[in-house]
Amino acid sequence: MVRRIATLTAVILAFLATLAIVSPASAHSLFGQSCSLASDTPLTLAEARASGGWHCPAQRSDVKTRHAWVRISSAQMPAGTVDLQSDSMASDGMTIATIGHDGKVHATHYTPTAIAHHWIAGTRFSIPLPLETKDIDSVYMRIDNPIGPQVATSIFAAPRDTVASERLVLSVMLAFLTGMVAIVAIHSLVMSIAMRSRFAFYNFIGLGMLMIYTISSSSLIFLIFPNLELWPRTTISYAAVAISISMLGPFLLNFLEPGMITPRMRRLIVLTASIAFAASLIAPLAWLTGWSLRGIYHLLFLPGIVIGTIAIREAWRKGSVMARAFTYAWIVLTIVAVERIARSFDLSPLDYSADTAFYIAMAGEGIAMSIAIAWRFNSVKHERDEALRRGSELAEVASRDSLTGLFNRRDFDSRRWRKSDVLAIVDLDRFKTINDRHGHLVGDEVLRAVGKALADCVSAGQILRAWRLGGEEFAVAIDAASIDAAAIALNVVRERIAAEARSAVPQVQETITASAGMASIGKEGMRQAYRTADAALYHAKASGRDRLCYDVGSHTMATIFPRPRAAA
Ligand code: GH3
Ligand code: MG
Ligand code: MG
Repeated sequence: MVRRIATLTAVILAFLATLAIVSPASAHSLFGQSCSLASDTPLTLAEARASGGWHCPAQRSDVKTRHAWVRISSAQMPAGTVDLQSDSMASDGMTIATIGHDGKVHATHYTPTAIAHHWIAGTRFSIPLPLETKDIDSVYMRIDNPIGPQVATSIFAAPRDTVASERLVLSVMLAFLTGMVAIVAIHSLVMSIAMRSRFAFYNFIGLGMLMIYTISSSSLIFLIFPNLELWPRTTISYAAVAISISMLGPFLLNFLEPGMITPRMRRLIVLTASIAFAASLIAPLAWLTGWSLRGIYHLLFLPGIVIGTIAIREAWRKGSVMARAFTYAWIVLTIVAVERIARSFDLSPLDYSADTAFYIAMAGEGIAMSIAIAWRFNSVKHERDEALRRGSELAEVASRDSLTGLFNRRDFDSRRWRKSDVLAIVDLDRFKTINDRHGHLVGDEVLRAVGKALADCVSAGQILRAWRLGGEEFAVAIDAASIDAAAIALNVVRERIAAEARSAVPQVQETITASAGMASIGKEGMRQAYRTADAALYHAKASGRDRLCYDVGSHTMATIFPRPRAAA
């Protein structure tokens, strides 16, 4: 099954990767061929151009300042009309100034909202340059207060005529992936309700958040909210990822087979998941305070990743199949996510087009996880069926007498009697002498034979149920139209006891007889019937044994004698 999940995930990923390959290929960032100028104050274009602080080639440390400038030469741009594209992560805005060969300056300031209006699929914007490449000398860009340096370091110039089709292809693909995640998320929600499953619920929240993240970070959110600004968008993206990742903690606690996570590990998982959850507050905090908290944001996930990895490794060691399924479902997405984080710190050789891989891996994870969940439900069902079976076995054992196999006193005491039931108490006659003459083991065999006789009578429908109350005393429930009819039935039972004992224990020469007292449950109920039947039994013993007695009212005791027996 694990292999099946892995194979299926691989197939889905391969299919989606093909989709990604047919989407437009990316160029190399122009940052490498640009110059940079660090500044903590918003220099004007003239001040920037006059500054002696430029570095060529551009340096990353420069663009980590609050109002860095980048100068892009037109030499690396494709011919014709082009768009300047880069990362649309949160910032306070940017200024783009195109300088013509004629020295004319075309400068525009873009507010965050204006940048958002130029979104293309992916965390990207695409802003048209006012001149054709052949007329451009250089382009200056000032980025105000970005949350990270990518806006400056992932600059591309794309031919204008490819932008629209790129936007369409990527949007359709991302919408497709979002839809897929939505389907598995809804599936998880339905499962969580139908099966009252916590892990399916946590998976639903996790996938739902990943879906929100995709919609937000891929810019599809601008289709829904065209006037959304960059900061709220980033806040949504960051919070959605944090909540989604934090759900993995409670998910794992409920998803793995019982006993896979030690109580200490359990507490650590809850703690680290809470820390990851707290990361959802980082982006709004950075937005409100202007502090750079991106590093802290990513660090908050670290404890959870470490503890989660250790917990899963322990579960693997203990032979957890679900830990394996979880690993296979998450491995691709984890690798791609690590690359993405590394890229946001400028530590990855890949460019923004690798983002597509993230969305694909996410959809793959969602599908793989929902297969694993269906599989887990199956094993939960098995565990439950097994527990039910063992439970009913135990209940059966607890209600039986081990020597005779009849129901025991516990079962007798818990029976719900009906008014129409007749209760008979049956006691073997002079049983002590049987033990004394033949030994206890033979006595036991006789008791077993009595048990079999009573069970046969139940099977034959003569009596409803039979119990061994203790020692050589038995109780019988009879369903009869009248107490006289019950008396006839019980006489057959007493004959059966004698016959069975004779054939099962031939070495006992004496006829095994039983005395019985009987009473209807009637209006007075079980306790009163028991007392009356016991008194009748006492009467049967006292008046000579081997007979059935029952009270017929007005201090009269009816007695049924056995039919004449053939001599043993
Ligand atoms: P009565 O006709 O008055 O009922 O005489 P009795 O000997 O049957 O009655 P009593 O209550 O004096 O003796 C019951 C005997 O049943 C005592 C005990 O040795 C025997 N007995 C009780 N439980 C078991 C058992 O599990 N196995 C065997 N072999 N004997 C048992
Ligand atoms: Mg007895
Ligand atoms: Mg007795």
